[in-house]
Amino acid sequence: MDLKKLVRDIKDFPKEGIVFKDITTILKDPEGLCSSIEQMQASLAGLEFDYIVGPESRGFIYGVPLAYNMRKGFLPVRKEGKLPYRTKSKSYTLEYGTATIEMHEDAISPGDRVVIVDDLLATGGTSRAMVELIEEMGGTVEKLVYLIELEFLEGRSILEGYAVDAVMKY
Ligand code: 5GP
Repeated sequence: MDLKKLVRDIKDFPKEGIVFKDITTILKDPEGLCSSIEQMQASLAGLEFDYIVGPESRGFIYGVPLAYNMRKGFLPVRKEGKLPYRTKSKSYTLEYGTATIEMHEDAISPGDRVVIVDDLLATGGTSRAMVELIEEMGGTVEKLVYLIELEFLEGRSILEGYAVDAVMKY
């Protein structure tokens, strides 16, 4: 199924000059939802790993069905102050200012093999921070899988050496 026709471009969101790829139009479509999950899952076929790691909030939307289908555990990555237990955090720079992501300190044990799942790869900043957090906890990142990659932002360049795959590329 060609999912590109279900992606909605929103001009000037969240701020002027940005064209936001809205995926809620994929989620709303029963065939689109099913196909988008299946196409992401296809890129994990045959890969050995233990957990799927997904950042809030659209990383939850895709990470959990993939984990469920592949019978893996799911590890949430959240913004600062949202997780109930003790956390490890990582700050990273955005275009303006910084952001901090967190995982529970016991989410990953040394030797755990994880796959990172998110809806979209833009600059790669969020993913890079997740990779560093996972590796600091002793885990290894086997692959990063996205529904959409904005190739012109060259997010792959800060993820060099890692396996990166995306269903749709712009
Ligand atoms: P990055 O850290 O790679 O610059 O940004 C990726 C993160 O921001 C992802 O978690 C993604 O959900 C969100 N994001 C950035 N731009 C877009 C966009 O155009 N559409 C969607 N759906 N998410 C975006």
